[in-house]
Amino acid sequence: MIGVIALEYRLIRSRRKTLSVEIKGGEVVVRAPERLSKARIDAFLDSRRAWIEKQLEKSAELAAVEPISREELEALARSAKEYIPARVGYYAQIVGVTYGRITIRAQRTKWGSCSGRGNLNFNCLLMLTPPEARDAVIVHELCHLREMNHSPRFYSDVRRAYPEYDKWNRWLRENGGAIISRLEKIAEV
Ligand SMILES: [Zn+2]
Repeated sequence: MIGVIALEYRLIRSRRKTLSVEIKGGEVVVRAPERLSKARIDAFLDSRRAWIEKQLEKSAELAAVEPISREELEALARSAKEYIPARVGYYAQIVGVTYGRITIRAQRTKWGSCSGRGNLNFNCLLMLTPPEARDAVIVHELCHLREMNHSPRFYSDVRRAYPEYDKWNRWLRENGGAIISRLEKIAEV
């Protein structure tokens, strides 16, 4: 006897020796050795049920998001170019640093970055996140101008400048992927 509701999945048997499961395009794909019994496969899936359900939920959320149009992206970049430098200026005083140039780009891999010369780079998709999350990214990058690492000292600087940092950093980790994925869809066009 396994879980109450049977999971639907696509089974691919091959000469492999181990079982694996992945979520591909919203579908559960199981790879199994040629002769492994169905009961063993189901038991394996059952042991990973929580993970599978979480991944299925995530992929449903991703499938539901609308891709960003070019016009929307340009509008985001425009508002980011007004909004972000002002916040950077505000937090730079709190952190106690000076900075160089600020660039705004649409990026798939990061929310913000900084260079050794003190130039800062921010993702215009931040404008699709709550202002508190934007502040978390801005403070993170500004604190790198003091500490070019992720040491405990760095994080204590970050939290001193922005006490709600952890909460909003977590928010970005949990929700950021769905926002970024709207940009990835454009790239496919
Ligand atoms: Zn960092």
